[in-house]
Amino acid sequence: MAFDPLAPLRAHPGAGAILLDVDGTLAPIAPHPDLSEVPAATRATLERLVARCALVACVSGRAAADAARLVGVEGVVVVGNHGLELVRGGETAWADGVEPWLSAVRRVADELGPLAVEVGGWVEDKGATLTVHVREAPDPDAARALLEERALPVIAAQGLAWRWGRMALEARPPLDVDKGTAVRDLLAGCPAATCSLYAGDDLTDLDALRAVDVGIAVRSDETPPAVLEAAALVVEGPAALADLLAGLAVDSA
Ligand SMILES: [Mg+2]
Repeated sequence: MAFDPLAPLRAHPGAGAILLDVDGTLAPIAPHPDLSEVPAATRATLERLVARCALVACVSGRAAADAARLVGVEGVVVVGNHGLELVRGGETAWADGVEPWLSAVRRVADELGPLAVEVGGWVEDKGATLTVHVREAPDPDAARALLEERALPVIAAQGLAWRWGRMALEARPPLDVDKGTAVRDLLAGCPAATCSLYAGDDLTDLDALRAVDVGIAVRSDETPPAVLEAAALVVEGPAALADLLAGLAVDSA
């Protein structure tokens, strides 16, 4: 039989920690974040996993409350803004050091609004971070070039850090917080979890993929090669990941 990296999790689900990106991982990529949905069957699987596993958590680039709404499953711990924000039991908290940067994020979001519109994109103000989306721009490459030239200086002037995601420029406080630190904190807070998996589809998931026992890459046309290389398993899209999770939510034969 082929080696199954998930065998320990199947054998001892109560010692399992299941950590998941949301967009492109649980929810198929949509042309606009507002159109994303976690399929009902996936939510039902997450409910079963919450009852079964030591920890089920989602770690998203969205604002935590937005990610929690999208996932919509009670008992799932939700980390938002790539680790900068945590929702547990309905309460939202900023990670250490975030609060002093909130006004700078707001200023940059306001300042980049007109430029984003000019290139055919839009700004998503997520509180602790902001994203300039160019997926809907008529020429995403030209939009990116213009943002490189005119948005990066605005971001730098406020002391914020930036990086490119998929069809999006993200600006954030210059803190040593990422999905990997978020995953390590979650695991440290859950000593019962001795076997962990993380599934993700983008470069921002790399740190998290490396912080768990079993990293799973969710492949789409846009999945960066580095994500596939960092993972122990590769699945073909959110539907295949949903099947894999469903297999963990039932007793193995
Ligand atoms: Mg994703």
